[in-house]
Amino acid sequence: MTKIPLVGGNAITADQLGFTLIHEHLRTETDGVRFQWPDLYDDKRQFDRAMEEVTNAMQHGVRTICDPTVLGLGRDARFMERVVKESGAQVVAATGLYTYRDLPHYFENRSIDFMADLFVRDITMGIQGTNTKAGFIKFATDEPGITPGVDKVIRAAARAHRQTGVPIITHSHAHNGSGLDQIALLEKEDADLSHVVIGHVGDTDNLEYLTAVLKRGVFIGLDRYGLDIYLPTEKRNKTVVTLIDQGYVGQLLLSQDACATIDWFEPEEVAAMVPNWSMSYIPETILPTLKASGVTDDQIHTMMVENPRRLFDR
Ligand SMILES: [Zn+2]
Repeated sequence: MTKIPLVGGNAITADQLGFTLIHEHLRTETDGVRFQWPDLYDDKRQFDRAMEEVTNAMQHGVRTICDPTVLGLGRDARFMERVVKESGAQVVAATGLYTYRDLPHYFENRSIDFMADLFVRDITMGIQGTNTKAGFIKFATDEPGITPGVDKVIRAAARAHRQTGVPIITHSHAHNGSGLDQIALLEKEDADLSHVVIGHVGDTDNLEYLTAVLKRGVFIGLDRYGLDIYLPTEKRNKTVVTLIDQGYVGQLLLSQDACATIDWFEPEEVAAMVPNWSMSYIPETILPTLKASGVTDDQIHTMMVENPRRLFDR
C-alpha cells in the first residue's frame, strides 16, 4: 500500500488520511525577503497563527492538511515541523515551484531534468536536510498562461511525478482556460491524470469550463472557500451542488487555500478583505450549508475523505 510521508518524518497509508483539506498554507512568504530583512517578520505571530488555524481545523474534525507551499512561497520544513510537533496534526508537504511567469535565474540555464531531479530529491530523501519528505508536487499557472518559464516547471513536475508516482496539485487561473492548458501539457509528458488536482477551478462558476476540465478525468479543486473576492461563497456552493447533481462527486475536492499568515499584504488588510478565510470555514459553515441544500453525508465523505484517499493511493 502507498505510504504517504508526513511533515516530521512519519508516514501513513492513504486510508489513514481521513478528513482532508487538500490545499492550505501554514505560512506563506516571499522567498528572499526574509533573508534580506528578517526583522520584517514576527516569528511568534506566524507560529501562533499557524497553531490557531491548525488546532481550530482539527477541533472541527480535520485530520490531514496538504500544504502546497514550495519555492516561491517561502517553504520552510522546519517551521512546518514545529507546528506539527506542537499540534499533532497530520500535514503533507510539497515540492515544486510557484511562479506565474519567470523562473528564478538559477533555473534559467539549467534543464528540465535538473529541476525534476531536485523535486525527486525532496520526495525520496527529504526537504532542506530534514526528515520531512514531500508527498506531492505543486506548480502554478495564472493570468499570463503557460509562459516559457511555467512550461519548464510543468514538464519537470510531470517527470518527477512519473518517476515517483506522487500526485500533482496545481494552482490555475479559472478565467483563461489555464486548467485545460495544464492538462494538455501534463498529458504530453505522460502524467497520470487520475492523480492530478487542477486547483482553484472553483474560482469560476462557468459550468462549461468546469465540466470540460472534469471530463479529462482529473480531480478539481473547489479550494478557495472564503476568498469571496474571487467568487462569493453562495456561488461556490451552487457549483458544488450542481456538479454533484451531474455525477461528478468523485472528482471534487473542497478546501480554502487559507494562509495562516501571508506576507503579500499587511495582516489587517487580509482580515478586512477576506473575513471568512480560515482552515475551519468548510467544516464549520460550508458543510452544514451544503447539507441543508440536499448534499448527503455520503457525498461529503466522498469529497473530504474518499477523494483524497484515491488521489494519493496508487
Ligand atoms: Zn495556495
